[in-house]
Amino acid sequence: MYDNLLYQSSASLLCDDIANDRLPGSILLSGPDATGKLTAALETSRILSCKGNPRGKWTCTCPSCLQHKALINSNTALLGPRDCSLEISACKKTFLNAAINHAHEEAARYLFVRSVRKLTMRFNPVLWQDSDKLSKISKYISVIDELLEEIDPPRELPDFNELSTICDKLEKEALALEDDLMYNSISIAQIRNVSSWAHVSLAEGKKVVIIEKAERMLEGVRNALLKILEEPPENTVFILTTAKRSSVMPTILSRVRTYNFNSRTEAQSHDIIDRVYHENFTGTIEQYLQNFLPVSPKDIYQVADGFYSQVINGHIPDLNEIIKNCSKFDPRLLFRLFLESIYQMQEPALKFAAGAKASSLCTTALRNTWNNVTIYNQSILAALENLTKEIALINKTNDNALREAYGKL
Ligand SMILES: [Zn+2]
Repeated sequence: MYDNLLYQSSASLLCDDIANDRLPGSILLSGPDATGKLTAALETSRILSCKGNPRGKWTCTCPSCLQHKALINSNTALLGPRDCSLEISACKKTFLNAAINHAHEEAARYLFVRSVRKLTMRFNPVLWQDSDKLSKISKYISVIDELLEEIDPPRELPDFNELSTICDKLEKEALALEDDLMYNSISIAQIRNVSSWAHVSLAEGKKVVIIEKAERMLEGVRNALLKILEEPPENTVFILTTAKRSSVMPTILSRVRTYNFNSRTEAQSHDIIDRVYHENFTGTIEQYLQNFLPVSPKDIYQVADGFYSQVINGHIPDLNEIIKNCSKFDPRLLFRLFLESIYQMQEPALKFAAGAKASSLCTTALRNTWNNVTIYNQSILAALENLTKEIALINKTNDNALREAYGKL
């Protein structure tokens, strides 16, 4: 079990708990980004429904496992915001390379198909009942599903040129779906819809509800979720994931058992990138995926640098131009990198008292900017307008401490 969850001690804890029938109805997978939490959640869902003997091997060919491996089973619901585009692009590259070289082709095919469905599962119509976005979603999903059918296992793959065209189209459609409809935080309607879905009981097996970024929910949504966790539907397991356990509501934490995920070492990351993507890359998995960003982290730093230096020198930056140069901050990761760049520019400020004070206020402003966009759905333009005002004010009321520190960068 959990053969594809590498270098995480939680894998053996989950194995033990499932083997001894001790897995609670609600669990939390907690740890930094790109440590395998979603992989573990999807694997848990597969293992809980496996009819094979021994149970839950990755190579199991029971009908349920075959569906789960391609992520086309109907007893798993997946909710939560996520940038899927980089993984899809990375997996496409791996799959097409494997198809040329006829090496690891089957594994790479699953890798790519799964990367796309990790996105489309979030747009399962069941979760969007009564939403005004449903017809738009259905259009994207039907195009993507039709393309996926062409390459779903065990179907024989078309020749390379045709395969390559299908993969390009899939990538384009998936990116358009994410660009157009990916949400920043889960809505109360999604929680209600998934609750109704979970309450329809299955003839056999278990339903699994996976909720990513459990820390990123408005109060009303968290309360709706809490209500379900307090009186969970029968035969349903809730798997929450978070990179910020301290931001998850304590009443939710008291309802879940936590399994911890740790950052991998450089050697472990190297091994995982080699095994999964068949690339020889030194760095973290996140860094590997950043190769597929439409704007490089270095270029984002430069744009952030231009923005910050203008603000602390009393000028008003052209925010529309900044947004355009950063690919509209899509995927959202680009916005995080932009804010982190400004955070990095604070370093010299920590070396003198006025600077440290101003920098700490600036850090709070950066964090609020991120939260306003990702939790409260503020537009990036409005968020940057606020940030501009706040940084200018912090600098002014602290005797230009930010400007002084910036000069020492
Ligand atoms: Zn099985």
